[in-house]
Amino acid sequence: DCAISPKSIVNDACASYSTLERLNRKVKPAVDDLTKETDFFSYYRLNLFNKACPFWNDENGMCGNIACAVDTIDNEEDIPKIWRASELGKLEGPSAKHPAKKVQKERPQRPLQGLLGENVGESCVVEYDDDCDERDYCVPEDESASAKGDYVSLVHNPERFTGFAGEGAKMVWDAIYRENCFQKSSFPHSASLGGQSSRQGSAAQDFRNVLQKMERQQLQQQHHQNPSTSFAQTGLENEDECLEKRVFYRVISGMHASISSHLCWDFLNQTTGEWQPNLKCYTERLHTHPERISNLYFNYAMVTRAIAKLGPHLQDYTFCTGDPEQDAETKAKVLAVTDGAMSVPQIFDESLMFQNGEGPSLKEDFRNRFRNVSRIMDCVGCDKCRLWGKVQTAGYGAALKVLFEFDNDSGEIPELKRTELVALFNTYARLSSSMQAVSNFRSMVEEEEEGQ
Ligand code: FAD
Repeated sequence: DCAISPKSIVNDACASYSTLERLNRKVKPAVDDLTKETDFFSYYRLNLFNKACPFWNDENGMCGNIACAVDTIDNEEDIPKIWRASELGKLEGPSAKHPAKKVQKERPQRPLQGLLGENVGESCVVEYDDDCDERDYCVPEDESASAKGDYVSLVHNPERFTGFAGEGAKMVWDAIYRENCFQKSSFPHSASLGGQSSRQGSAAQDFRNVLQKMERQQLQQQHHQNPSTSFAQTGLENEDECLEKRVFYRVISGMHASISSHLCWDFLNQTTGEWQPNLKCYTERLHTHPERISNLYFNYAMVTRAIAKLGPHLQDYTFCTGDPEQDAETKAKVLAVTDGAMSVPQIFDESLMFQNGEGPSLKEDFRNRFRNVSRIMDCVGCDKCRLWGKVQTAGYGAALKVLFEFDNDSGEIPELKRTELVALFNTYARLSSSMQAVSNFRSMVEEEEEGQ
């Protein structure tokens, strides 16, 4: 039985670091092909500029202004303008306006049931202002009634170093981790929305510290010395915290690790203007924190499972582009990815979550907290970082929805919007390239050690 329990997460035989790396080497070309070479998956529609940060006043400079984004080097005045954080964070490439509202009104009625809805043909071009489904783990991008988003090219705006750092970035990460502070039995959602109390902050910090200390001790040697060791048998079982809370933390930390690996891999030396991998950046943020790498692999296993579970439902999906040949091509590329994800034994067993003890009551809590994380993305004071933060929280939200809200044995299957599909596959692509970057960095560390 190769299913991973989210508790121990791993069965040695099936989901060691090396097993997941092998899977990634096999599937990555198809994932890249899908996300870089099809229109359907390379444009994301979102409302990037018109939503205010709901948690603090970003007009007053804590996270919304340029100053908070530029403190990675001593004096940005000394470097060419195009290498400055404010420039690196800007969006590039073509972006299209959302089609007029009039068109939306002509929408055909879609049945509520059926995974992706029937008559989904329209979804390629126009996104409708559907109401939020109570099973969503993410605030849908098209939630707000009036201001609608634009299509942004994900290919022209790769996730990489932007120089966004300092107090602004710290506030956002702190707020995100604060959402991990579940409380027993009741769900203090409104308290968490404010999210600023020191009690909550310190509880989240304590939890993180305990977890990190335990994991660090156990993983310190493992990953570096023997990539075939399991990546997540981390002693979490002994922890006082319940499974669901630990999974929540791992998803967030894994996303953070993935962002770090991209910015370290695609790093701009702001004094020479050269884009290159930055080994020091990797060593400080990831290599010396093996539990973060473990959480990245955890996310890869989890999203792989969601994509495998979704696979059969995508067989009949119409990726209408107005051109039947292109539709067929897009579908073939999607199925190449889902087939790859389905080619391994089930590597994540979601059925163990929300079952025992306080598990069932935690589901709503878990979902609401994840929605809050998606709202926090409006507080990210760098356009490109906000774009990818939104894509990835929507992607994890879609994965969680597939894992925890889809009962394949019943007809009760929530719909996935086009934005959710695009976010899910692009998040998978992000994880896939993070895994590759970490592998490459690991070889660089080994080479450096051998040379000493
Ligand atoms: P940070 O990465 O800011 O981490 C803050 C603290 O969190 C650390 O001190 C550590 O205690 C803890 N921590 C760090 N990593 C983990 C982990 N994996 N798990 C658990 N705890 C951890 N910058 C870019 O250059 N390009 C981007 O595309 C980009 N996207 C971003 C998207 C979002 C949503 C946010 C909030 C920030 C983004 N940033 C981006 C900024 C980047 O993530 C860092 O915040 C910045 O580089 C400063 O890094 P730091 O070393 O201060 O630590």
